[in-house]
Amino acid sequence: MQTYAMLIDGSWVQSAKTFDVKNPATDAVIAKVPDASAADVDRAVQAARRAFDGGWRDVTAQERGRILLRLAEKMRAELPRLAQIETENSGKPIVESEYDLTDVATCFEYYGGLATKLHGEVLNVPDNAVSMALREPLGVAGQIIPWNYPLLMAAWKLAPAICAGCSMVIKPAEQTPLTLLEFARFFEECGLPKGVVNVVTGFGETGAAIVAHGDVDKIAFTGSMEVGKIIMRSAADTLKKVSLELGGKSPNIFFADADFEAAVDGALFGVFVNQGEVCSAGSRVLIERPIYKKMLDAMVAKAKTIKLGPGMDRATKMGPVVSKEQMERVMRYQEIGKKEAKVAVGGGRAAVSGFEKGYFVQPTIFYDVSNAATIAREEIFGPVMSVIPFDDEAEALKIANDTPYGLAAAVWSRDIFKCFRMVKRLQAGIVWVNHMQPTYVEAPWGGYKMSGIGRELGPWGAEEYQQVKQVHINLNEAPIGWY
Ligand code: NDP
Repeated sequence: MQTYAMLIDGSWVQSAKTFDVKNPATDAVIAKVPDASAADVDRAVQAARRAFDGGWRDVTAQERGRILLRLAEKMRAELPRLAQIETENSGKPIVESEYDLTDVATCFEYYGGLATKLHGEVLNVPDNAVSMALREPLGVAGQIIPWNYPLLMAAWKLAPAICAGCSMVIKPAEQTPLTLLEFARFFEECGLPKGVVNVVTGFGETGAAIVAHGDVDKIAFTGSMEVGKIIMRSAADTLKKVSLELGGKSPNIFFADADFEAAVDGALFGVFVNQGEVCSAGSRVLIERPIYKKMLDAMVAKAKTIKLGPGMDRATKMGPVVSKEQMERVMRYQEIGKKEAKVAVGGGRAAVSGFEKGYFVQPTIFYDVSNAATIAREEIFGPVMSVIPFDDEAEALKIANDTPYGLAAAVWSRDIFKCFRMVKRLQAGIVWVNHMQPTYVEAPWGGYKMSGIGRELGPWGAEEYQQVKQVHINLNEAPIGWY
């Protein structure tokens, strides 16, 4: 078992208290990590402020880009070791950790290239003047990370913030802090000046101290809708900028003319990948009545073959969920679902031989679900699918949009006209056609409605860490004005 420290102002430091980090496949404690107090957070914010004002804001875009490219290279070199730690800490299958960490490297590469391409504008104002809109870094960013994609969600925030020239204090989730702490060891050798990125570990209180801090200019948060609301309320006291990537109850919509085999796989992958712990999970599967029974039967047959096991076993397709609390939460929803709808497969905790203490839950499919049911309205964040029938395009759209969330949606059909009619009217920040879940660093990520505010990835992600300054240069020699 390893004891970790946090990174503040370029030094590895402890705090007064520590907490245990567990392997969800075995329930064993695998690490001890500092539990940062408000005073620790204050030290980290002060370090970030000193770094920003003391030179980081003036480092050239070219140099920031090079640092990001070095971080990407380091990520690739260390990928096998960090993927193993990611799996041991989060439970996800090793193949998925390898995939995620490849995406981490790609994210740093993308923003390494983008750094020198971010620029302002010169405006055609009706005067003898040069009018410009400059883009400047916002300052100190506070970044709060969830547990479902621990290092990838950190990369989605670190890379654009470094690209834009901010300094930052970042907090991983209490369940999964290890890969970010490991990755932070490379900051110095990759050329990041001390204090530019500070990593503090802890619980919700640590995150709350970052949000409340008067010297933090912006909060970037990924997590639950409930905590997103708390953050927005708290950030109001200091009028911080806030970007929120919250959850979803995303509809995955299958018309009768869809490619049947692809549809079955797309529905299962859409909600069972990463144990269902995905903000964009296609947890509401809407099926047109002519194929409803046939598709349900095919999904059930295939769901029964999903191999559950420890993430480190390469044959594993579904690992344990992240924590005992999360397992109990998913099981509570399974019980609610049994009262609200019919169970097609699963519905309880799963037994995995040799891993009796692991937090495994059965991939579960409920069918004949009403869109008003709790399991169709609340984000479960586990491998639970709610299947809902529909009669036509209008009804599919009505059900799909009848949710407070608006993160993602998918439509499956061979009729491109129908697909595009749906695309235009679906209230979601991301819409897939004949696919579900692929995510690219080049493309914007974020939600409509209560799924969030702002966009991550692409140039949109970097713009969240910038502010715009208007500059007006008067070219008249004569005085201007009335007096
Ligand atoms: P939370 O939203 O509680 O946690 C996300 C992050 O916010 C964590 O780093 C957490 O710290 C931190 N945090 C918690 N409370 C506060 C606060 N008051 N101020 C600032 N930061 C805070 O998610 P949970 O881990 O509790 O998961 C609960 C549910 O949230 C899941 O079942 C799922 O429905 C949803 N969720 C959605 C995610 C998404 O990507 N959309 C990701 C994760 C969860 P700490 O973990 O240390 O408490």
